[in-house]
Amino acid sequence: IQWEKQVRNSAQIHRSGGMSVLVTGAAGFVGSHVSLALKKRGDGVVGLDNFNNYYDPSLKKARKSLLSSHGILVVEGDLNDAKLLAKLFDVVAFTHVMHLAAQAGVRYAMENPSSYVHSNIAGLVTLLEVCKSANPQPSIVWASSSSVYGLNEKVPFSELDQTDRPASLYAATKKAGEEITHTYNHIYGLSITGLRFFTVYGPWGRPDMAYFSFTRNILQGKPITIYRGKNRSDLARDFTYIDDIVKGCLGSLDTSGKSTGTGGKKRGPAPYRIFNLGNTSPVNVPELVNILERHLKVKAKRNIVQMPGNGDVPFTHANISAAQRAFGYKPTTDLQTGLKKFVRWYLSYYGYNNRKNVQ
Ligand code: NAD
Repeated sequence: IQWEKQVRNSAQIHRSGGMSVLVTGAAGFVGSHVSLALKKRGDGVVGLDNFNNYYDPSLKKARKSLLSSHGILVVEGDLNDAKLLAKLFDVVAFTHVMHLAAQAGVRYAMENPSSYVHSNIAGLVTLLEVCKSANPQPSIVWASSSSVYGLNEKVPFSELDQTDRPASLYAATKKAGEEITHTYNHIYGLSITGLRFFTVYGPWGRPDMAYFSFTRNILQGKPITIYRGKNRSDLARDFTYIDDIVKGCLGSLDTSGKSTGTGGKKRGPAPYRIFNLGNTSPVNVPELVNILERHLKVKAKRNIVQMPGNGDVPFTHANISAAQRAFGYKPTTDLQTGLKKFVRWYLSYYGYNNRKNVQ
């Protein structure tokens, strides 16, 4: 009873026309930012996260505390726990699901392939089954990834491009997720929007990502490994600042449209959409390191090696005109400015602020 009350309080809507959103992966990087932004504008939010140890769980706990201080409950549980999901839908008639829980990272797929199947395939299907049976059915916005473009060499990537050459198991599970969600859309009338995020970075970010681990190593005086692609070309990424991604997530939730099914039965056509959410200005990795050095006021020890062919693609570059047209998506933070905010957060979170050689 106490638990149900907490869930209901967290899902409480504080604006007219607001939504109640189940955010999966709420203790994650993107999930925590999206949850806070929804809550701040008056929407109801309940989080779900399994707090796995793919990276430092204490960072996830810290994000959970931050959310809790804003009145957001993050329920600890796994996407594959159908009973728990059904219980959440019994307590709250969620209007929307923002599905951000996943096994992320391309290289870890070589160490632990089954974790990708567990979260990105089986977990997704479990969630969709519960949404399908819910009454009313929520509309779903979920995170796909720019990695679905794989070894596609036509840039910028547009949503209509081929996505038939995934370069990692991670990419393959995201591509599979697009097929699975499309199926639930046309069979059961679930409204689905897939967002292909392009390398998201910022405060409270993910320690396994390059900008984060580079920062850690530079500050600790350890070398950083920079990959070079074929013909000694530099890898480049369309780095996208978290606040821009959050705006894209909220914009797509607002325009996601109603599901048309009820209790597992379809009534009419519901929207199925896919959008790129990127920054449209790729930066190469050596330049990323230069910017970090400037912000940290510490020189990096560079160790440049040939890319080992472990799932990284040579470059990414988003065409964002579809998201621009659909919900006015317009990224406004460049890498220089965004990394400054990340570094400021990093130094304060890890207690570097009293050191002499860093600001
Ligand atoms: P993250 O790892 O910080 O967040 C994901 C959260 O989901 C974690 O807190 C994790 O504990 C949780 N989770 C994982 N499996 C779960 C399960 N089975 N049940 C319950 N919770 C589970 O990652 P992120 O960077 O915040 O990514 C959010 C989403 O965006 C993911 O779907 C990711 O694949 C996608 N994405 C991220 C990026 C990026 O650059 N950050 C780029 C493309 C796509």
